[in-house]
This record gives sequence, C-alpha cells and structure tokens, in this order.
Amino acid sequence: MPMTSVNPATGEEIFRAAGHRPQQVEAILADAANAAPAWRDLGVEARCKLLEQAAKQLDSKRDELAELMSLEMGKLIGEAKAEIEKCAKACRYYAEHAPGFLADEQIGTDASRSLVTYQPLGTILAVMPWNFPFWQAIRCAAPAMAAGNTVLLKHASNVPQCAVAIERVFEEAGFPDGVFRTLLVGSDAVDALVADDRVHAVSLTGSDAAGRAIGKAAGAHLKKSVLELGGSDAFIVLADADLEEAVAHGVKSRFQNAGQSCIAAKRFILEDTIADEFLERFAAVAAELVPGDPRAADTTLAPMARADLRDELHAQVTDAIEKGAKVVTGCHPLDGPGAFYAASVLRGIAPGMRAWEEELFGPVALAITVSDADAAIEVANSSPLGLGGTVFTRDKERGESLARRLACGSAFVNGMVKSDPRLPFGGVKQSGYGRELSRHGLMEFVNAKTLWIA
Ligand code: NAP
Repeated sequence: MPMTSVNPATGEEIFRAAGHRPQQVEAILADAANAAPAWRDLGVEARCKLLEQAAKQLDSKRDELAELMSLEMGKLIGEAKAEIEKCAKACRYYAEHAPGFLADEQIGTDASRSLVTYQPLGTILAVMPWNFPFWQAIRCAAPAMAAGNTVLLKHASNVPQCAVAIERVFEEAGFPDGVFRTLLVGSDAVDALVADDRVHAVSLTGSDAAGRAIGKAAGAHLKKSVLELGGSDAFIVLADADLEEAVAHGVKSRFQNAGQSCIAAKRFILEDTIADEFLERFAAVAAELVPGDPRAADTTLAPMARADLRDELHAQVTDAIEKGAKVVTGCHPLDGPGAFYAASVLRGIAPGMRAWEEELFGPVALAITVSDADAAIEVANSSPLGLGGTVFTRDKERGESLARRLACGSAFVNGMVKSDPRLPFGGVKQSGYGRELSRHGLMEFVNAKTLWIA
C-alpha cells in the first residue's frame, strides 16, 4: 500500500513512498525478534545509556523534526518543538528511573530467598496515531525498550515521514539493529502482526474502533494489550472559579493542536450562574485565534490533519445544530485550501446528539449548563469515555473531592489535563485500559516473575 503525506495547510501531496512489501515486513519482524535476546541481556544500565543518547539526538534535531511534523500533519511549529523536547525528557526520565523500577524486589516467605524479578516480554507492536506523531511513539517505546523489549512501530498512514524519522533517531543514537523498527504498513496488516509468534504484546493509541479491532485480535491470540483510546473530557467550571484562569486553560486545552488531542477539554460543564460570562469570554479569546501556515510564528490555529477528519467533525456539529444546539461562535469549515475549521463553541448539547455521545476531535468546544457541582459530576460521568477531567474552583479541597468522583484516568484541579512522564496516563470505560508513562507504563510490558529458592 503506498504511503502519502499531504500538507494539511495546503492540501498538496508532499511525499509518496511504496509501503513495505510482505518480504520486507517479514525481514523487519525477523530483525526485531533476533535483536531481542541480546538487547535483554545487555542490561538495563547499558540500555539506559542509549536512551540518553536518543534524548541528545532529539535535542540536536529538534528544529528539523518539528518542521517535518508541521508539514506532515499541520502542527503549529512552537507546539512541534515543545513535543520534541518532551520526547527527550521522557527518554531521560526512563534513562534515570528504569534501573530502579526494574530492580529485584525481595519478598519474605517460607523460602530461604524469594523475590520478584522484572523481565521483558520480547517484541512489542506499537500502533500509533498521527496527532502527536513523535510523543505517542516515544512515550510507548522508551519504557518498553528500557525494560529490554524490542519495538515495532506501525504508525498512522498519514505520517510516514515522521515514522521513518523516529526510526532514524534511535539508529543514530546507536541502538543495536532491530531494537526499534518502523513498519510502513496500513491498518489491514495489523491483525497478522498481532497474530505473529514473534510479537508478544501490542500497544495501541487511537480510536475506539481501532481499539475494538486490536483488542479482539490480541484476545484471539492471547497477547497482552494496552489500549489508549479517545476521550471526551469534562472541564467543569464552578461558580466560585477564577474565570480568567479557567478561560485561559480551557482555550489552550481545547484549541491546541487544532483540538486534536485525546485529553483536550471537550465538554465544558458550567454552573449556570457563570455560564454566560464564561462563554462570552471564552468565545472572545477563541475568535482571536489566527489560522494560517502552521510554520509561521504568528499562526495560532493549526489546520486539522486531514480533510476527511474535518468533514467528519462538521457532520457531528451539523447534527447537533439540527437537533437544537446553538452556535456561540464558528462551527464551519474555513474557506480556502487546507483542512481548516473555525475555532468553535456550541452550547445546548443534549442526549440524542452525536456530540453528546461521541468524541469531537477538532477545534469545537461543547458547552453544557448545570445547576450545581453534583449535576456537573453526573453529566461528566455520563460519557461512555473516561480519559481525563478538570474541575475549576477556588476551593481546592472541594475541587479535590469532586476530582476523586470523576470517572476517568487523570483528574486535574485548576489546571488543564496534560501528560507528564512522572505520572501514569490512561483511561477507564471506553477510553481503554492499561497505563503509559511513570513506573506503571514501564510495568505494562514486563513479566513480573517470581523466583523461589528453598
Ligand atoms: P485511528 O484511526 O484509530 O488510528 C490510530 C492507529 O490505529 C493508526 O496507526 C491506524 O492505522 C491504526 N488503525 C486504525 N484502525 C485500525 C484497525 N481497525 N485495526 C488495526 N489498526 C487500526 O485513530 P486516529 O484518527 O489516528 O487518532 C485519533 C484517535 O486517537 C482519537 O480517538 C484520539 O482520542 C485517540 N488518541 C488517544 C490517545 C490516548 O492516549 N488515549 C492519545 C492520542 C490520540 P492507519 O493510519 O493506517 O489507518
């Protein structure tokens, strides 16, 4: 299958390559499998030294890689640079902490010595999305490789150049052949990869549809899986919130990366006494975002990554408007080339609308008004998704107690949800299962093996 990248800001095709043919896929699988025993036996300290080298590579190639991301999927250049820096930080985090995370744990039992030792599973298949093309791949690969696994990356089909560039980062950092390989294949190749005996586990970051397909394949072949799927995160603003702060965090969370973030604030759940004021301020800031070339420093609204994704978003918005939702601002594609969509706010979202049930993966904020904090939690938890959630209130204690009641993987008080290598990341309900980042992420792809010595 040919791989193409289209500049989302112009609609022009900028790259085309033949995908890997079956014989090439076979050779790459064999490489990863052959590399696994030596990589495991190299020891964690030596593996971590190489991760430090990968961090240096990322730092030194930051501008070049950011430019590529910006061209290939439309990310604002400033956000793209920050993404590469965050990848380097994650590599350094695991380089520093993996030896401690993987240390044997002595446990007192009836044995003369009993302990838990952490061993790699083998080869991990990473099926990744285009929205944070470097971050998603590296946050999965860095801990998996630190633990002694080899990694096969099947990246999203619209970012083949990023996929190849990530492989090159590890190659130039001095990783042994086969430890990290990119497969240029479409989603139709994934079932066979999961089934292959040389693949021991699979990690997907992507949509719920992909999650169902990969979860099914992993189950059929009894392989470990981690699924990081979509979110429709609640952003609750209570009557006592600092509205200026809430608006600033809300706008950033909803519109960065053209709204294409799993943990973007998607449903703004507002206590009725401040709803109008919040929305007025929020819409005013959103309306000031400037669409344009994502590589230009003064552009503040990126294009969406693909025209078909923009059209699907507009179909969700149109459905809501037809069923009674009200446009506060935007809610239409922007004229001209490229996959731009106006920074948008829709209020009056209700059950029965697609926007109530589904994730809106683009620059559209949904507003729902509620009478009090209990009603806010009820609306927040009514979603089938459970990735992140935010509560804004000046009463931090109350904020914490409400955050504890949110049915999600990450709940933030007075701050937008963001990922951090030190904290676990993942969802509940249809947002998937398993965790990435922190010690929890590293532990997903190890065998916690008991040793018992009489
Ligand atoms: P996607 O269409 O599910 O694609 C993600 C990856 O899965 C791609 O590599 C894709 O390959 C592959 N894929 C798609 N359908 C598949 C199938 N049936 N079987 C096997 N593989 C399949 O998702 P996306 O549109 O790229 O990304 C957006 C979604 O990812 C959103 O729902 C977002 O919330 C979610 N996401 C979640 C997180 C998280 O951490 N929870 C982070 C970022 C994004 P092709 O490109 O070749 O189709």
